[in-house]
Amino acid sequence: MTNLNSTHDPQLRSWVASANAAGCDFPIQNLPFGTFVPNEGGGPRIGVAIGDQILDLRAAGLIATHDMNVLMAAGPAERSALRAAISQGLAEGSSERADWEKSALVPQSAVTMQLPCRIGDYTDFYTSVHHATTVGKQFRPDNPLLPNYKWIPIGYHGRASSVGVSGQRFKRPKGQIKPSPDAPPVLAPTRKLDYELELGFFIAGGNALGEPIGIERAEEHLFGVTLFNDWSARDIQPWEYQPLGPFLSKNFASTVSPWIVTTEALAPFRAKFERAADDVQPLPYLESPANRESGALGITLEVWLQTAKMREAGQPPVMLSHGNAAEAAYWTVAQLITHHTVNGCNLQPGDLLGSGTLSGPKPEEAGSLLELTTGGKNPIQLPNGESRGFLEDGDTLVMRGYCERAGAVRIGLGEVSATVLPAA
Ligand code: MN
Repeated sequence: MTNLNSTHDPQLRSWVASANAAGCDFPIQNLPFGTFVPNEGGGPRIGVAIGDQILDLRAAGLIATHDMNVLMAAGPAERSALRAAISQGLAEGSSERADWEKSALVPQSAVTMQLPCRIGDYTDFYTSVHHATTVGKQFRPDNPLLPNYKWIPIGYHGRASSVGVSGQRFKRPKGQIKPSPDAPPVLAPTRKLDYELELGFFIAGGNALGEPIGIERAEEHLFGVTLFNDWSARDIQPWEYQPLGPFLSKNFASTVSPWIVTTEALAPFRAKFERAADDVQPLPYLESPANRESGALGITLEVWLQTAKMREAGQPPVMLSHGNAAEAAYWTVAQLITHHTVNGCNLQPGDLLGSGTLSGPKPEEAGSLLELTTGGKNPIQLPNGESRGFLEDGDTLVMRGYCERAGAVRIGLGEVSATVLPAA
């Protein structure tokens, strides 16, 4: 796990004034990475968010590439040195200010964010035991939590081609749906479109085929964390998921937030990974003192909904749920990386691991409508009189995340937003 250093100093302030505002997602202690295209033209560039601005890293003379995957492949020491240089240059009183202000600073309002990197492979996990148990009760009332759950970080290989960046608009998917247990399936647009509140873990340097990543070194392979919405069609899912797992109910769209908050930036917000003494304990290859001490991520997560009617009436989104990733997850990101590679499977720079739906222990902390509305049976009443069992066309779903702790400066993950369009 990363140690604290001068880049985390809570006294540090930036000459970019907006970065010093209370409640800002991107103070100088954060420095998340993203890929942007200037609206005035030109190709993709790598930037770091600072307040409401972006520092163009190549224009600032800090890197030689426009390719995030190249930057992600750098070792942990090189990535840490880059963060230190960005922090020093953006700090109040720095000698870089005049140059960077003139030629490397771009307002976020003047760019379009792209996917942060090329995602070669995407794997989705299932790390919240609360989510697994609640959903299991709906799909298998007499057998909610399968016996492997507490031993294996359960996952499946997802689809990278349909992962989009915040702002994504996608058509309601069609698929095979069983109208009733006794009726044959029909092809129809999903009537149970849902979101899944997840974190996205981006891989830094990979491993060679056949060479597993031990848990002690797992986080050296974690570039950073984004918000991640793993859209799901709940009426396609139950008919197709046995025996090989989710398929078309999940791969029509998934949305990530544009800024990757680095593992180093998250260092002040790590939490203990704990299991009750009478609970199943991880096998030795998924255990380490550092993982016990600080393997979990203390990230507060929120889900917000704005329907088309609300948007037309100028009403802001309403919050559907909030919770904390550390309380939701039964497995840590180090355990996911180690388990994924224990058989020799090779991860590559830019690969994406989804945490799985991060539902907390309380019902109101659920990370999907499947749980919040009990499969649509108990719709949510919205302030404008509308209700939702599942999502309707025109709905915009927004997820936000941030970290707060006494003695540290608050940092945010920004937001991931996407809108449902009518079926084709
Ligand atoms: Mn998922």
